[in-house]
Amino acid sequence: MSSSTGTTGTTTVIGNIATLVTNDPSLGDGSPLGVVRDAAVVIEGDRVVWTGESSKAPATDNRVDAGGRAVLPGFVDSHSHLVFAGDRTEEFNARMSGRGYTAGGIRTTVAATRAATDEELEANLTRFLSEALRQGTTTFETKSGYGLTVADEARALRIAAAHTDEVTYLGAHVVSPEHADDPAAYVALVTGEMLDACAPHARWIDVFCEKGAFDGDQARAILTAGRAKGLHPRIHANQLSYGPGVQLAVELDAASADHCTHLTDADVDALASGDTVATLLPGAEFSTRAEWPDARRLLDAGVTVALSTDCNPGSSFTSSVPFCVALAVRDMGMTPDEAVWSATAGGAAALRRTDVGRVAPGAYADLTLLDAPSHVHLAYRPGVPLVSGVWRRGVRVV
Ligand SMILES: [Zn+2]
Repeated sequence: MSSSTGTTGTTTVIGNIATLVTNDPSLGDGSPLGVVRDAAVVIEGDRVVWTGESSKAPATDNRVDAGGRAVLPGFVDSHSHLVFAGDRTEEFNARMSGRGYTAGGIRTTVAATRAATDEELEANLTRFLSEALRQGTTTFETKSGYGLTVADEARALRIAAAHTDEVTYLGAHVVSPEHADDPAAYVALVTGEMLDACAPHARWIDVFCEKGAFDGDQARAILTAGRAKGLHPRIHANQLSYGPGVQLAVELDAASADHCTHLTDADVDALASGDTVATLLPGAEFSTRAEWPDARRLLDAGVTVALSTDCNPGSSFTSSVPFCVALAVRDMGMTPDEAVWSATAGGAAALRRTDVGRVAPGAYADLTLLDAPSHVHLAYRPGVPLVSGVWRRGVRVV
């Protein structure tokens, strides 16, 4: 996907937009969403060069009529696990029939992933990326974590890096089956030989800090080692239980603490005091029938919140950001405006990006056109395929 770019010099206006979400508070209604009514966007090459009221749009080479519908930034899905093989239908079916979810199910996918060819892994990844793109996702992060050997982790990252700049080394997903009796040896591998093999292919390092995975001391050692190799930290934190992950994330200036389902007041205070984004992943709570994260509590404390899919075959097998927006509004106390912001600008903040997640001059021309007059319909019409157009890097791809 990174190879497609628009033709530099050719300008295109998308006009007759009923509701344009810019995420630029200096534009439009002055809200964080920077909503402009009766709007237009001008694209040149792969960038946005102008946004404003339709009547004031400059002359361009080409024109697209949005038909009185809504345009918003392409979604920024800052948390997914898409390099894998196999399927966990039976586990999901059993769980929906009353069995609980634990971190150990990951090992089922590890076995299938190790057995797959490079071509099979890449075909699977491409299939999910196409699926996500059709639903408006134009930027995505994805992780390793289903290999758990030096060669299999490095392979996953190489495959991911051919499709996105936002690649995360997650050798510390769970302790590998080979090291089940010696977790310390696995941490030594993850921070040693495996890190050396993986760091050239990744931007981020992540750890699943949870009972049954890695404790606070192990997580600190892993992230610190990654940072010394030039990787930036992010953490799976406080998903299944209370724990040290969130405060460790803030202490290490992680870009994001992901899940944040079980938080103490001290955890919330820590997030509010730092630059670490709280990334909420309601697909996981939906798919495990777990307690929802309390987005309202975080927002009221001044925490920056992102919304992402956590797309993975075990605990959240959805690639749909619109679905997550609807869940966040219905069950996590977010307003539709807040949820849309979190799924676009919030995701960008969780990846420390300013060139995506907004529709303003200088940003990439990554746009989603809804078959609806307003972005509120993403929550108002849950489950309906409203995305009717997607531009990525200035090229219409849907
Ligand atoms: Zn995850």
